Amino acid sequence: MKNRIFTNLQGKDPVSFLASTKRGDWDQVKDVLKKGPQAIVDEIIASNLRGRGGAGFPTGKKWSFVAKDTGNPTYLVINADESEPGTCKDRALIRHEPHKILEGILLSAFAIGAHTAYIYIRGEFREEAAILQQALEEAYAHGFFGKNPPKTAWPLEVYMHQGAGAYICGEESALLESLEGKRGLPRLKPPFPAVSGLYGCPTVVNNVETIAVIPTILRRGAAWFKSLGTAESSGTKIFCLTGHVNTPCVVEEELGIPMKDLIENHGGGVKGGWDNLQAVIPGGSSMPLLPKDICTQVSMDFESLSKAQSGLGTGALIVMDRSTDLVKMTARLAKFYMHESCGQCSPCREGTGWMWRVLERMAVGKAEVKEIDDLLSVSHYVEGYTICAFGDAAAWPIQGLIRHFRGDIERRLRQYSKVDI
Ligand code: SF4
Repeated sequence: MKNRIFTNLQGKDPVSFLASTKRGDWDQVKDVLKKGPQAIVDEIIASNLRGRGGAGFPTGKKWSFVAKDTGNPTYLVINADESEPGTCKDRALIRHEPHKILEGILLSAFAIGAHTAYIYIRGEFREEAAILQQALEEAYAHGFFGKNPPKTAWPLEVYMHQGAGAYICGEESALLESLEGKRGLPRLKPPFPAVSGLYGCPTVVNNVETIAVIPTILRRGAAWFKSLGTAESSGTKIFCLTGHVNTPCVVEEELGIPMKDLIENHGGGVKGGWDNLQAVIPGGSSMPLLPKDICTQVSMDFESLSKAQSGLGTGALIVMDRSTDLVKMTARLAKFYMHESCGQCSPCREGTGWMWRVLERMAVGKAEVKEIDDLLSVSHYVEGYTICAFGDAAAWPIQGLIRHFRGDIERRLRQYSKVDI
């Protein structure tokens, strides 16, 4: 793809400041800053960039919501707490393109009027944290950050904070609580972080990939970015291909690429051929799976996947061939969500455990057919009735399984009940 933004995603080149500048990073920074904060926000709004962390909220709009003239500082926080099963795109970026992230932090902080930025990085990313810290020190040494940085004249301090490994800290308000030194519990919203975020001050929380595409958009222009992808899903996206593909990979492609092309061209095809495909989770473990017939014709963009009753999420495809026991797989995911629930809301705290236990029984056939509807019904009481979107994330994989594979579950339960007789 000639319009690639990330030219070192596979880590073939060094990540040093010098090597990064040769790839075009930190280029024309002064010229971009000269345009002024509002022009930068307007350009990002015009580019139609949507957040790459999962929710897909328009980035420029998010920036424009930041409360102004509050008398308090404004903060920029980078969410590098990548923990969604199947997702490994931010990790690849931190490992191989750290300077793109740092340059994005500078331009974004300038746009929203922040003089302090925090990178909240997943605790298990020790190697990545070391790479990012090294890049950060280089950027300071080259005059892009600090109290009075010669290259930008925009005072900006950037701090990295390592989390302790809780999935829920990837939820932006839980992340802010954790950053403040408290337990990572999601906050009730409103108020949203743009009004009351870190330490009660206006805050923008952006995903690593979102931040890393900002410099290229500002250099090449909103019109260029909008010319890629689809009308509503502009630009390129990093996809992660895992599971039963011949060549698992992390790759950048235009949004709107057919899922089949993505899997065949970059993932080396499904193991055993396309006909051996059973289902794909298209956007990280919380997105409902899609069966083969939908995977054959669906495109990888926000609208197409939502029309197919799933979602683009993080862009992480988990490919499963016919050898996969989908009930067992969903039970395993349910166990993960039960374990990671922060426990604040009853539907999530109680519902995730209940759904996991039923799925474990279903996986070994020790359930009744009518319990499929009970499971579905409980999932709908977890979805949408909680403080944060974690409840939805726990419910959707189960709803996807029942939506597309109810017949298989029923057959399994009937078969086992005959054996028991
Ligand atoms: Fe915590 Fe779950 Fe409620 Fe989110 S939905 S606040 S994870 S209990």
